[in-house]
Amino acid sequence: MIAQKEWKSPCLSKKMLTKDMLELHIIRPESFTYAAGQFIQFVIKNGDETVLRAFSLASHPAQPDLEFSTKLIPGGRASTFFSNLSPEDEVVFQGPNGRFICTTENQPLSFIATGAGIAPIWGIITDELMNKKNPQPIHFIFGVRSEADIFWSERLNALANAHPNFSFTITLSQPEGSWSGKTGRVTTHVHLLPKHGNFYLCGNPDMVKDARATLLEKNISPTNIHFEIF
Ligand SMILES: Cc1cc2nc3c(=O)[nH]c(=O)nc-3n(C[C@H](O)[C@H](O)[C@H](O)COP(=O)(O)OP(=O)(O)OC[C@H]3O[C@@H](n4cnc5c(N)ncnc54)[C@H](O)[C@@H]3O)c2cc1C
Repeated sequence: MIAQKEWKSPCLSKKMLTKDMLELHIIRPESFTYAAGQFIQFVIKNGDETVLRAFSLASHPAQPDLEFSTKLIPGGRASTFFSNLSPEDEVVFQGPNGRFICTTENQPLSFIATGAGIAPIWGIITDELMNKKNPQPIHFIFGVRSEADIFWSERLNALANAHPNFSFTITLSQPEGSWSGKTGRVTTHVHLLPKHGNFYLCGNPDMVKDARATLLEKNISPTNIHFEIF
């Protein structure tokens, strides 16, 4: 295997979005380029052990920083590394990698994500709307467990207000209390999406499998369904 170039860059900022979701920004090295939706691999050293962990870029390529949404898993190696990271600490990463990118034009775009799966999808949607000025209908279904797990709803609202061709639906699989929005799994709301165009899915293996099967049942061609599995 050809060794990948390693990049070093300082952490810019981090903040907790929910009880287990961290938003992380690192400074973008000057010559680092990527396509919206790609991922990088953080090189994480712990004593003699080095592990690589993939994280999708939530930023779009015209952004000066690199942004990530990372789910913190208790005891996880990347999770522990991110929890201990302070602004200005240097991170090492390889990449960019991945083919979860949007190259189609002149067709509606539909996106489905759960949890941290929003990362590459946010990167692609903002790239389409803000950089490529894509005028096609773009809809996003975002699923999380409960109201306390919702994050980035302000930026989704701001994007929808700024771009009339963009809309989004948040659905809770385990709603509690006074939630009056959509409920159920993301697949319950696939009927809200256009019946044609390209479909981008990102999340855990079960979600991607179920959403893909639902789209195939609706006669969407497999070549129009793109996915990234975390
Ligand atoms: C292409 C790609 C892009 C990715 N992008 C992102 C991203 O943008 N944001 C993000 O948060 N993750 C992303 N992931 C997942 C990420 O790479 C790590 O696998 C994940 O963060 C766990 O890493 P860790 O080192 O903290 O845990 P590990 O040390 O690898 O695992 C610790 C324990 O947690 C379990 N575990 C692993 N993942 C989960 C999980 N999701 N839920 C519950 N238990 C788990 C493991 O089985 C193990 O028992 C991506 C993965 C791929 C392949």
